[in-house]
Amino acid sequence: MSIDFSEINYLQDPDIMSLKADYDQFLLSISGPTIIDISGKEQSRTRVITTLIHGNEPSGLIAVHRWLTALKAGDRPATNLRFIICSPEAASHAPMFQHRYLDDGMDLNRCFGAELEYGYFKRAALIATAIREVKPEVVVDLHNTSGFSPAFSVSVEKNEMALSLTALFCQTLILSDIRLGALMEQDFGCQTITIECGSSCDIQSHEVAYSGIKHLATITDLENCHFDKEIDIYLKPLRLQVKPGIPISYHGIDEGRNGLTLINNIEQHNFGIIRANQILGWLDSYGLENLQVLDVNGENVVDQYFALRSNQLVSKIDLNIFMATKQLAIAKSDCILYLVANQNHITQ
Ligand SMILES: [Zn+2]
Repeated sequence: MSIDFSEINYLQDPDIMSLKADYDQFLLSISGPTIIDISGKEQSRTRVITTLIHGNEPSGLIAVHRWLTALKAGDRPATNLRFIICSPEAASHAPMFQHRYLDDGMDLNRCFGAELEYGYFKRAALIATAIREVKPEVVVDLHNTSGFSPAFSVSVEKNEMALSLTALFCQTLILSDIRLGALMEQDFGCQTITIECGSSCDIQSHEVAYSGIKHLATITDLENCHFDKEIDIYLKPLRLQVKPGIPISYHGIDEGRNGLTLINNIEQHNFGIIRANQILGWLDSYGLENLQVLDVNGENVVDQYFALRSNQLVSKIDLNIFMATKQLAIAKSDCILYLVANQNHITQ
């Protein structure tokens, strides 16, 4: 598919005809990244909601479409809203909502901040410009998790606004200093947060996105709205990866396969505690050499968190894990799971 990376489309207060009958048809009616501006009661303030950076994560689009089509003519959000639908081509490529990015494409959420003027880097730069031009008071980027998981948010900083935005959607916040070229890591002069709404296969994820957008559209003063809700906070996440070319499989028992075999119920541990010495899978004769957990300095610290017991992969300390996935392509190309030492889990 040839893509015009300089394309960006604008819709101002679209009517029901332009929104089409459902989100599938609406998606098929747009081509490149599409900005939907909704005028609010207070025109001097704008909140930005981005979604569909990953084409296989539809909850944000479903929720945005539901919110837009439910908006009555006389109803206005508290402030202006700018929705940005980022990767319509990947999302609409058949079968719909199955491609994180196109086969010959790149992960757009690894292309922000690169200041490059071609391909997906250019698209990321156009989206970043479209965010900055409205001087937003918050930016919320809606995603789905790759595996089954409760909803959670990810922020670079912990402040009142990060806690408040988390509370609008869920009750778990991950404070991340990982730098991958994601939209969330960019400085837009305001609080930027990622909401992982849960699995795309889970109807509840669409509800999480919708009720969060509804709150975001209605509340005049967003700061301090978390006080009636306790937020679970996880600090300093790390990513467990296989080294390039190492095969991954999922199984209930050890079958002596090459590379890493993960227990096939790994997703059930998302946001649970993996206790020290708990088994997560099996490794071939190269043991922990197959794996890496890179710290902020790029050092492989896998042996601080995992150990080998015979050929079993076990946790060395109590861990919380999240984003564990059984989608092989993501586990191999991105990461197997995120982990946080259980001592870095606090409630606020
Ligand atoms: Zn995503």
